[in-house]
Amino acid sequence: MSAPVYHALAATAVLDHLQTDATNGLTAEAVARRYEQYGANELTQQAVTPAWLRFLRQFHQPLLYILLVAGFIKAGLGSWVNAAVIWGVTVINAIIGYVQEAQAEGAIASLAKAVTTTTTVLRDGQTLHIPSQELVPGDVVLLHSGDKVPADLRLLTVRNLQVDESALTGESLPVSKSPDPLPPDTPLAERRNLAYAGSLVTFGQGKGVVIATGSATEVGQISQAMHQRTHLSTPLTRKFTQFSQTLLYVILGLAAFTFAVGAGRGKDWVEMFEAAVALAVSAIPEGLPAVVTVTLAIGVHRMAQRHAIIRKLPAVEALGSATVICSDKTGTLTENQMTVQALYVGGQMYSVTGSGYSPKGEIRIADGEPLPELPLGLRACLVAGMLCNDAQLRQTGTDWEVAGDPTEGALLAVAEKAGLSQAGLLAAHPRLDAIPFESDYQYMATLHDGSPRMIYVKGAVEVLLSRCAEAVDPQGEPIPLDQRAVQTAVEQMAAQGLRVLACAQKAATPHQHSLDHEDIARDLVFLGLQGMIDPPRPEAIVAVRACQSAGIQVKMITGDHVTTARAIAQRMGIQTEAGVVAFTGAELAAMDAPQLTQAAVAGSVFARVAPAQKLQLVEALQSQGEIVAMTGDGVNDAPALKQADIGIAMGKGGTEVAREAADMLLTDDNFASIAAAVEEGRTVYQNLRKAIAFLLPVNGGESMTILISALLLRDLPILSLQVLWLNMINSITMTVPLAFEPKDAGVMNQPPRDPNEPLLTPKLLRRILLVSIFNWILIFGMFEWVKSTTGNINLARTMAIQSLVAARIIYLLSVSQMGLSIWHYLRGVSRKIMPAPILLLGILVACILQILFSQWGVMNFLFATAPLSWQEWLICLIPMLPMIPTALGANGLDSPFRLTYSPQQKSRA
Ligand code: ATP
Repeated sequence: MSAPVYHALAATAVLDHLQTDATNGLTAEAVARRYEQYGANELTQQAVTPAWLRFLRQFHQPLLYILLVAGFIKAGLGSWVNAAVIWGVTVINAIIGYVQEAQAEGAIASLAKAVTTTTTVLRDGQTLHIPSQELVPGDVVLLHSGDKVPADLRLLTVRNLQVDESALTGESLPVSKSPDPLPPDTPLAERRNLAYAGSLVTFGQGKGVVIATGSATEVGQISQAMHQRTHLSTPLTRKFTQFSQTLLYVILGLAAFTFAVGAGRGKDWVEMFEAAVALAVSAIPEGLPAVVTVTLAIGVHRMAQRHAIIRKLPAVEALGSATVICSDKTGTLTENQMTVQALYVGGQMYSVTGSGYSPKGEIRIADGEPLPELPLGLRACLVAGMLCNDAQLRQTGTDWEVAGDPTEGALLAVAEKAGLSQAGLLAAHPRLDAIPFESDYQYMATLHDGSPRMIYVKGAVEVLLSRCAEAVDPQGEPIPLDQRAVQTAVEQMAAQGLRVLACAQKAATPHQHSLDHEDIARDLVFLGLQGMIDPPRPEAIVAVRACQSAGIQVKMITGDHVTTARAIAQRMGIQTEAGVVAFTGAELAAMDAPQLTQAAVAGSVFARVAPAQKLQLVEALQSQGEIVAMTGDGVNDAPALKQADIGIAMGKGGTEVAREAADMLLTDDNFASIAAAVEEGRTVYQNLRKAIAFLLPVNGGESMTILISALLLRDLPILSLQVLWLNMINSITMTVPLAFEPKDAGVMNQPPRDPNEPLLTPKLLRRILLVSIFNWILIFGMFEWVKSTTGNINLARTMAIQSLVAARIIYLLSVSQMGLSIWHYLRGVSRKIMPAPILLLGILVACILQILFSQWGVMNFLFATAPLSWQEWLICLIPMLPMIPTALGANGLDSPFRLTYSPQQKSRA
């Protein structure tokens, strides 16, 4: 099929050319054939940067420059072995970095892809929801606001269709679409009758035929530019980079100083160069970048297991310091399992029995008496609910499920309880047109054939009531509308936590076949109210409490009625010390900026909030220094999601537009998963701090040793190559397990982390300094003692290193949860020691490598080490003894060094 100029053809010509049909779509058989021919509708991923370049990029670190240069100078001086080892270690480091980066990126990218986009398509005359990968050219696709355009489409019909094509054209304003043919030479950005894959429907509806899929689409052809690369950089990693750069200058200065002092005092300059290199190498925590990447990647993985998919990596960190979570009500805090329990028609209240979407149950008069027969007024209200409806009920086994909006499912179930049938009503009154529900205007309307043609409307009470001129009595006879009585009934239903919808109707003009907002602006007949229960999710109640004890405020932002929202908030404990403080969208709209900020801070419930007000609330909270997580599902929530520190969209419900804007997706749409993600975010940060607390004292000890020995013009207790071994090989094997540390028992009993808190808090610095001094005494002491007693300098260095590693193992335990667990066991706080297999594996590997390091001839040659006798090994273990009380003390309750939280602190908190 040579591609014709689709935008220049009339819609019918396009359909002919693609051998398809606008009302029935393709047949299953045609779909299968075309799928075979064109393949899946997906972009083939192309690596943006070739692997070799990404590998080379690993060398783009200041430290590695130093090492490479040091290697060249060593080679120039004829120390070929030294040069080769330095280069070898840098290459190993780059390989580790490359592999880790690739794995982490791959994992994050595949998680984001796991959430599939579905598309509404016409096939064999039926409307189906299919994964968009299954589309083929010729498929007829239905677009609604909030959808992502799944393939390149030639539009056939549109209703106020607006599409955001910024991803393709860079044009930030949505473009209005129209199906009319255009001149052949119309530029891409102005082809109003085409909708391009990857763009987002921001308003209205449309129907289009697929003209290109996968890499044949416009996006596919420029996929190079569109490819979304998963960046592994976050504010924290950037802080690390900055930190190591500052460190580099300090170290270079110190190294130059050492070199100058030594050379000035007549020391051999080759020796002083070795000291300067050793100093530079020792001070930089080479293992840190690898640990940061692994820790973040593990955090992302753990969040995914708990139903939170991270789309943008910085969210992992922001989650750890979130101070406010603004959550939708329906579906996130509540089950979204609606059942109508109360009806109000013509001044009469009715109750409804039954549960779920099952049509079993009956309508009773409020005092519990069964209804002798269905009054006409009540029938009209139920008919409106059933016809002004896009959902369907389905029976699976004994269960009834809703396909579509649960609110609408509930309206179908109650009408069925009264003996009405959706199919029967639709056959008698076919739908001619509809205005679908949108949060912005809070109603839905449909136009039906019959005599007379009738418009049915359902929606928020306030919105409908003001458009109603009269009402009906229980028998369906017109009566004047008693607004006050209706309001009282609404309050009564809402106070029980019921979600209340109003139903209304209006006779259409005899030949009316389309519906407009203007048609329902006035003169509606109020039919009645339907109140449905939507129970809170039990796990969300627990999660709200967990967030509150973690110092995070929970605020409910909902489109629902204020009394309903208040009742649900009360039941879920969403309140401040002053109780449930609620504001409505109308109240917020009347406030000036300072008042709005005050309300945003003080309120726990915001009801009947328009999506645009969500953005204002986020901004107001952020202006008070809050770190805000915000959920959203509609098209118009996108700006608020982008503005929030953590924008959260729903993976099950919700629109593509919201998902694209979000930092995180909930695969189960559940508030409890937000709390879980916060917990994991905090764990990530804690584990990073553990890694820093573990790594830096070794750098500290090594550099103190080298600096002091060099300035005192004594033999270096540790050589640059040996430092490299310690900082790269030994550090990575022992630190990576810290990234896998389970969450701390008390992680949700602390206040949120101050995002401005420096990486190295005074407490952490003190700890690092003290352990550094311990390490210095250990290396220096052991080296000087062995050297003076044996005169064997290689042996002295080897023993100094082995004792450092032995002490390091104890210190690792003290930093990790295992140490804490041992401590609790010893003190009788807990009855068993928590196993930590990865940590123990790390220690085991480190031990084996250390044995090779001194006992294997090749290592002796490469690293200038000496084999140890068993007595010497035992001696190396002695210095770890003082580390034991230090380590345990570090986990003691009142120790200033503690990193983790213990059960005691939890109960005190
Ligand atoms: P949340 O924002 O917490 O999810 P919500 O679902 O109540 O709460 P919206 O979906 O914006 O918020 O609904 C706002 C109001 O619009 C509802 O209170 C209801 O009165 C009305 N409404 C909701 N769904 C429909 C629908 N399918 N048809 C007509 N009106 C609806």
